[in-house]
Amino acid sequence: MDEFDVVIVGAGPAGATAAYLLAQAGLTVVVIERGQEPGSKNVSGGLIYAQVYDEIFPSFWQEAPVERAIAGHSVVFLGDTAATTIDYRAEATAPPYNAFSVLRAKFDPWLAAQAESAGAMVMPGFTVEELIVENGRVCGVKAGGDELRAKLTVIAEGTRSQLLKQAGLREDYSPKDVSIGVKEVIQLPQQTITDRFQCLTADEGAAYTLVGHTAGAEGGGFIYTNRDTLSLGVVAKIDSVYKSKKQPHQILDEFKSHPFVTRLIHGGELVEYSAQTVHRGGFHLIPQMVGDGYVVIGSAARLLLNNVMTLRGMDVAVASAAAAAKAIIAAQEKDDFSLSSLARYEEFFKATSVYQDMKTFKNVYPLLENKRLFSTYPELVCQVMEDMFSVQAQPGKKGYRALRDRLQEHDVSWWQLTKDMYQMGKGIAI
Ligand SMILES: Cc1cc2nc3c(=O)[nH]c(=O)nc-3n(C[C@H](O)[C@H](O)[C@H](O)COP(=O)(O)OP(=O)(O)OC[C@H]3O[C@@H](n4cnc5c(N)ncnc54)[C@H](O)[C@@H]3O)c2cc1C
Repeated sequence: MDEFDVVIVGAGPAGATAAYLLAQAGLTVVVIERGQEPGSKNVSGGLIYAQVYDEIFPSFWQEAPVERAIAGHSVVFLGDTAATTIDYRAEATAPPYNAFSVLRAKFDPWLAAQAESAGAMVMPGFTVEELIVENGRVCGVKAGGDELRAKLTVIAEGTRSQLLKQAGLREDYSPKDVSIGVKEVIQLPQQTITDRFQCLTADEGAAYTLVGHTAGAEGGGFIYTNRDTLSLGVVAKIDSVYKSKKQPHQILDEFKSHPFVTRLIHGGELVEYSAQTVHRGGFHLIPQMVGDGYVVIGSAARLLLNNVMTLRGMDVAVASAAAAAKAIIAAQEKDDFSLSSLARYEEFFKATSVYQDMKTFKNVYPLLENKRLFSTYPELVCQVMEDMFSVQAQPGKKGYRALRDRLQEHDVSWWQLTKDMYQMGKGIAI
């Protein structure tokens, strides 16, 4: 006899959203979360794109513990000591909001509370040790020495996805498809952040994506403004971190030592440090997300969109949760939890704008493998800018000559540059 209609592993954005939608539709739902509180185990830069959340939790920013509405997005190329920035600023004083910064230790409990108020039972402080698999079908979970049986198990356990691996329900990940993220939260006075990041008020914030100065590791940095803290970190490919012969925290320290970053965090106090693996994401890596008796949502299904400019894991996770919930509710109505009935989850997910975005940026991944993007070009861009802005004893150069000379210095041919530009264009522009 099943105790619940649905048991959900993990109360991250994916698990909590699925719980909310399923409980709201009248299903009996239990969520097991290993953290003492939802969010206590989670690492994230903390930038959420509002559109998907707003569809499920209309005007969520009025109640949810969001930090700042993001008004500025900057892409910064970090040379050895200089920096070149592309800065985009917009009004973020009224809806529709594009993005917010959040701290997961506050935001995830809010999401879990929404699920609870819809009728789901959320059980923090319990680790699911194992999936119950009988005759090839997942029938529930074992947690805290007890069995919890359900018609359907929703796997929302995040990137490491240990339970699926343990049950032989997924293949091993290749190191080239996994990154490591290290993050710090740095406290500063609220007004200092508002002024330093050129925000109008403490409700407005900025998001910086930084390329370069990551010890040659293929990855990038981020700095997001919270109300009175900054979330700062580096996400880099695991195999390139290994090749750099540096520990992730050393790469983060090197990143923080860049003058551009130092200026932004100056006077701040470190209040939190965390590290976690994160999928590199990609359209080509989306696995089968439905099995006999279970569905996989969020980053447990390797869902993430990284297009260099934005890293989207949380709204992608929520979109997959909503698509899964739609399929599960339909299955419950027909009392048909067969594989073919649940397969509609994938169909619904493919109809989301998030999936379409993943498809649109599917060619970005070769670009993320291009070492020159993370080491040579940030420095080269800064050097060409230096040539343009500096007045020196020797005659100055026009842009073309400055670029040509700098390319030669870095041993990059015009042909190589053209190929890289084409790759960049194919990945993010055309
Ligand atoms: C450094 C870094 C920066 C990032 N920055 C951003 C960003 O700015 N914006 C963005 O959108 N995304 C970002 N991401 C990605 C984002 O954090 C994830 O994609 C997102 O959290 C996925 O949500 P989820 O609910 O699928 O999984 P998670 O948020 O990982 O939630 C999984 C939950 O399952 C629980 N759990 C795991 N195993 C068990 C078990 N056996 N039993 C019980 N509970 C279990 C965990 O404790 C956790 O609460 C970043 C990731 C990293 C590492």
